Amino acid sequence: MKKIVRIKNAKEMAAFAARYAGVLRGGDIIGLVGDLGAGKTTFMQGLAAAFGVRKPVRSPTFILMQVFKCSAAVCKKSGIAQICHIDAYRLKDENELFAIGFEDYADRRDTIILIEWADRLPSVQWLDHYQEIRFAYGEDGERVLTADKMPIRTD
Ligand code: ADP
Ligand code: MG
Repeated sequence: MKKIVRIKNAKEMAAFAARYAGVLRGGDIIGLVGDLGAGKTTFMQGLAAAFGVRKPVRSPTFILMQVFKCSAAVCKKSGIAQICHIDAYRLKDENELFAIGFEDYADRRDTIILIEWADRLPSVQWLDHYQEIRFAYGEDGERVLTADKMPIRTD
């Protein structure tokens, strides 16, 4: 059964992402799928904040991949030392993902990967530890998130 979560504003999105961060394990790959402005980067920013990332996380316009170091305290507790943020919006071809070094970050116990526009990378969804969140616009600025598997309680 699909899980649906309604998020009222950007602040609530960040809080949701922070809770989501709490159950992630090294090697997890999270696909963020949805239209422009649906909240994918806002989710990534909330998640990065929870991991103590200090560098600002932006919607990468021309950068396809960025790696963010987590704070020492978080690393020590969770074993997660870095977050790899990929924006596949401008990828023309799935092979480009491997050309930018995706495999160096995949399936590592000290790394989690977030991929915006993961629906443009069909083979990624078959990888181990892949999970997907779909983002859609709801009414009055709300965002409606759906996932087949939601690792946190949302009720
Ligand atoms: P995407 O990466 O999907 O293109 P962004 O996260 O960059 O989207 O942009 C979402 C924009 O919508 C931000 O400016 C954010 O402040 C705004 N926003 C308004 N309501 C919400 C909400 N309920 N959840 C997340 N973001 C929201
Ligand atoms: Mg974005």
